[in-house]
Amino acid sequence: MRIIVQKFGGTSVTTSEKRNMAIDKVIAATERGYSPVVVVSAMGRKGDPYATDTLLSLINGKDCSIEKREADLLMCCGEIISAVVMAEAFAQRGYKARVLTGGNAGIITDDNFGSAGVIDVEPERILSALEQGLIPIVTGFQGITEEGDYTTLGRGGSDTTGALLGKALKAEFVEIYTDVDGIMTADPNIVPDAKIINEISYNEVFQLAEQGAKVVHPRAVEYALAGNIPLIIKNTVTDAPGTVITNSRGCTDNSVTGITSMANKTQVIINFPGDCKNISNDIFERLAQKRISIDLVNVFPGQEIFTVDSTDTSEVEDILKQLCKEYRIINNCSKVSLIGNAMRGMPEMMSKLLRTLEYNNVSVLQTSNSQTAIWCLIEEADNKKALNELHNAFFCAS
Ligand code: ADP
Ligand code: MG
Repeated sequence: MRIIVQKFGGTSVTTSEKRNMAIDKVIAATERGYSPVVVVSAMGRKGDPYATDTLLSLINGKDCSIEKREADLLMCCGEIISAVVMAEAFAQRGYKARVLTGGNAGIITDDNFGSAGVIDVEPERILSALEQGLIPIVTGFQGITEEGDYTTLGRGGSDTTGALLGKALKAEFVEIYTDVDGIMTADPNIVPDAKIINEISYNEVFQLAEQGAKVVHPRAVEYALAGNIPLIIKNTVTDAPGTVITNSRGCTDNSVTGITSMANKTQVIINFPGDCKNISNDIFERLAQKRISIDLVNVFPGQEIFTVDSTDTSEVEDILKQLCKEYRIINNCSKVSLIGNAMRGMPEMMSKLLRTLEYNNVSVLQTSNSQTAIWCLIEEADNKKALNELHNAFFCAS
């Protein structure tokens, strides 16, 4: 059997027309000799009746008073509704499907409700459905604990389900269908000039995803890499070839592959008088105890700078009030990332980045770099302008 996994995101299953376009992709795969395993997300985005956020709003979202276990049970409903509606649409076209929950599909997780870790995948029921000539439709984003409780895998979790099943089933490839023609040089909703990337390495796309490009979830990239399964990002409603993610892309290309950004960052600047060296360690220890992750960390004699997610700002401030005399908090920052495969020759890149931002009156609050990325922190209000100008400088200017 030549198994493939085809995952359809929320916007790909919202209307009867789109569901039929998704089904066209599945039927086309069967006609090419493949045995497709379908994974679906909940239908639509926030505001749509059965989308995950809409379901969550029924229980006051993040502020709900019930335990995460119960909230997970509610969130699992979105994918179940979507999968059953897809099964009916398949039946209307003369194809018999078998709907499998995450648990039915053998995705065993721990009990970290809301962002469960996968312990094992036992896909026997998927294989048996395929052997019976049925099209398995697996509800994305969910698993089951060994005790039988429903869990969810965290936001973007349906991508994770797709890649996870691809690995467990040793699929020939995993296709992630969404509402854009593939991975682009930037989010096309922010940068209208963004271009499609035909081929990209796991490492590059992992970094783009980790740094804010929500087109595919970084965990899905990790599982695909672990199983060495090509991951292909495609559009449900076009015939564009999409973006292929593999390791075959060489490491010699030192250009920028993509630009992305993450908002809701807070910059923390701490100044120490000469006799307070230990405070620095104390601060990091206290942050670690509170499980607050820090980023863009620069430690100098007498000064320390780092960023945190804005949701952690008040906890950080509580710690600083106790330990430091002099600190500054800058809210509403955005971290912009330029990602590449092997961006050697960094000085030119850094200088181009700084020149572009300066020319466009964007203040740079901090920068950092590695062999495969350049990061810079700016004010959130400048985000759109910065991304468009950087994209223009790195991808469009001759
Ligand atoms: P789905 O519901 O199919 O999972 P998502 O909304 O999670 O869809 O992902 C698709 C969206 O990702 C696109 O609509 C686009 O706005 C956004 N996106 C962000 N960065 C990129 C990028 N570099 N390339 C393509 N799309 C991107
Ligand atoms: Mg998604």
